[in-house]
Amino acid sequence: MPSTDFDTNTMSSTNNISIQSNLKICCVCNTEIQRGPFITALGKIWCPEHFICNTPSCRRPLQDLGFVEEQGQLYCEYCFEQYIAPLCAKCGSKIKGDCLKAIGKNFHPECFSCSYCGKLFGNSPFFLEDGLPYCDNDWNELFTTKCFACGFPVEAGDRWVEALNNNYHSQCFNCTMCKKNLEGQSFFAKGGRPFCKNHAR
Ligand SMILES: [Zn+2]
Ligand SMILES: [Zn+2]
Ligand SMILES: [Zn+2]
Ligand SMILES: [Zn+2]
Ligand SMILES: [Zn+2]
Ligand SMILES: [Zn+2]
Repeated sequence: MPSTDFDTNTMSSTNNISIQSNLKICCVCNTEIQRGPFITALGKIWCPEHFICNTPSCRRPLQDLGFVEEQGQLYCEYCFEQYIAPLCAKCGSKIKGDCLKAIGKNFHPECFSCSYCGKLFGNSPFFLEDGLPYCDNDWNELFTTKCFACGFPVEAGDRWVEALNNNYHSQCFNCTMCKKNLEGQSFFAKGGRPFCKNHAR
């Protein structure tokens, strides 16, 4: 959220018995503020006329506005929104509050969610596919190759067979009747399932 906490102080006469550490030096113009109001914000001291938005075309006083510090410069909430706020990679609108950086992009925290089920990741792991994040479950469901016989994923390094428009672990590509392994063997298809020569009919 844009920060709005700052104090406007008016120096009282007792403060004028100033020793070095009590000097009020504006952090912009480096002049001592002898009398009159000054502003403390972000742990620094400012003349009111220097506590302004950094955008040259704006220069709004920030005393009554929300403001944001960006790389050491102050911007009013309007300029921040217009010029500086990053765009959310998911919904495309500006991120005025908390910004979550992930996979090299900016997101509203509530927009960084599974591309399939919409679940927020929080601290849980996610998987990337084509630059989009997916939760564990959906990624497994959507992007892993599963063995048609046993239902478990065919993982990198597994030997597998592609047959009858399905994928099988090599050891799962068996005759539907007698379970004889059919990898590299001639086989027959009935109802989309493989059968050995003996059980083909
Ligand atoms: Zn100043
Ligand atoms: Zn401004
Ligand atoms: Zn968003
Ligand atoms: Zn999901
Ligand atoms: Zn299998
Ligand atoms: Zn058989």
